[in-house]
Amino acid sequence: MLLLAAATAAYTFVVKTIVDTAAALDTEANPAHNNARHYAIAILPLLLGITLASGLSNYFQRILTNVIALNAVGEMQKQMFASSQTSDYASFAREPIGERISKFTHDVTVVSNTLIRVLSNLVKDVLTVVFTIAAMLWQNWMLSLVMTVFILAFVPIVRISRRMRGSARDVQEHIGVITSELKESFSGVRMVKTYGLETRESERLDRSFDLRISKFLKLVSQQACVDPILEVLGGLAIVGVVIFGVYQVSAGLATPGSIVGVLTGLLILSPRLRALGTLNNAAQEGLSSLTRIFDVIDEKSAIIDAPDAKPLIDPRGIVELENVSFTYMDGTQALSDVSISATDGENIALVGLSGSGKSTIINLIPRLYDVDSGTIKIDGRDIRDVTLASLRKSISLVSQDVTVFNNSVAANIGFGDLSASRDDIVAAAKAADAHDFIQTLPEGYDTIVGEDGDTLSGGQKQRIAIARAILRDAPILLLDEATSALDAESESNVQAALERLSNGRTTITIAHRLSTVQNADRIYVMDKGRVVETGTHKALSKKRGGLYARLRDLQLS
Ligand code: ADP
Repeated sequence: MLLLAAATAAYTFVVKTIVDTAAALDTEANPAHNNARHYAIAILPLLLGITLASGLSNYFQRILTNVIALNAVGEMQKQMFASSQTSDYASFAREPIGERISKFTHDVTVVSNTLIRVLSNLVKDVLTVVFTIAAMLWQNWMLSLVMTVFILAFVPIVRISRRMRGSARDVQEHIGVITSELKESFSGVRMVKTYGLETRESERLDRSFDLRISKFLKLVSQQACVDPILEVLGGLAIVGVVIFGVYQVSAGLATPGSIVGVLTGLLILSPRLRALGTLNNAAQEGLSSLTRIFDVIDEKSAIIDAPDAKPLIDPRGIVELENVSFTYMDGTQALSDVSISATDGENIALVGLSGSGKSTIINLIPRLYDVDSGTIKIDGRDIRDVTLASLRKSISLVSQDVTVFNNSVAANIGFGDLSASRDDIVAAAKAADAHDFIQTLPEGYDTIVGEDGDTLSGGQKQRIAIARAILRDAPILLLDEATSALDAESESNVQAALERLSNGRTTITIAHRLSTVQNADRIYVMDKGRVVETGTHKALSKKRGGLYARLRDLQLS
């Protein structure tokens, strides 16, 4: 950058020398005539040297600046992702996924561009400006003072920049919204098509795209003011130089070369000063993206290990909820004074209308949320006193919506235990009744299942999830029963696999169908966040007028 700045400023000397030499050659009587010839010959290699130095230094500074910016931004992405991985489950519910994604893609690009601009403007352009001004003062200081007019330009520009920061933030937030809407629309494509919602979706997204245009235009109209202001003031400076320069030459105070040298300096300065004038805008835009990035990086998790947390070693899997109450962030009271217990190996079921708090209980046991009051204990220890890693290691979750990653079948089962061998994976698949169907897939265990496992049926996905849980071999099993979504044959397969899985483990099942809870050791019937009845299927069915009996009658009818 230093070399590039010096080479650029040196052009003023080159031009001055050329003009003065030409002027000298023009007048035969001039005693400088002979010197002028030598000058003319010497100037060619000098000119070549300066161009070469300028070109090479330009190339290297550009590459180095990008290396710095890309590495800085790459590091930010890594930190954002690492922080997202450890941030609370609740923070994902708060912010639409698309908005978070746009921070990783759009905001990071903005910051990278800003960093490149700031690096090159602040260092290269400031150096060029300093060297060029020095060269101009050296050649003709009086004339150079004319350009102080330029400084006046910065007063309105600073004022405009301040307003631009708000507009830039607005634009970036809206891009997050668009990303989110696109993600929602594309992932719901099946529903969109079957319900014929294409036009409605197009209209919805069109509104967002239009809004982006108007938000951008607002920003651009503020940005657009900057250049004309600088342009006009630059023109005034040139006019000043020309008028004053003609006077100086005619009065014999300066050579024509020095006038042209100062004018060249002005032309060099003009784009650099303009860039410096708008640098604040770019910096503001970058800063507002940077703020959004650091929101992710600095996000504090509320659910972390207590300072004196000890690991839970080989737990037996006794689960107790004692007087647990819980309210979601938005104020929905999901659980009030709930007490539930399961000794090791017991199989208990949660039953109740939707919204009664069953999933909330399942979320609280692995500490996806922390209770407001009451305690949850495993083997008699408050789960807030044990390390999160050991707590979660003792739990397997098999839920209604199976998560499969776009990876091989073997890898998807292997998530249960990252150190498992292929033999372990096959054994788990066999125990989950999944081995046979996996072998019929085009590449067996190495078949890639596609995003969201679109190539697998609901029952197959369930059995992969069960194999994963078998591999995990945790003493506590949380089941969000999914059999309701399956056909009779898949259901009996899955049911058999589930029974094998829950054998010997403490199992807490959210039962959607009462037919599947008949063998539960105990059933907790939930209503509006409370446990209203407890007992076995037999006992509860007999209780005339009880909620369980009513639910059973409803399902039977
Ligand atoms: P169930 O599993 O029995 O259908 P849930 O535990 O999902 O019931 O829900 C219990 C209550 O908490 C409901 O009123 C539901 O609307 C509310 N709820 C569930 N999840 C959230 C959430 N992430 N934010 C706010 N309220 C929620």
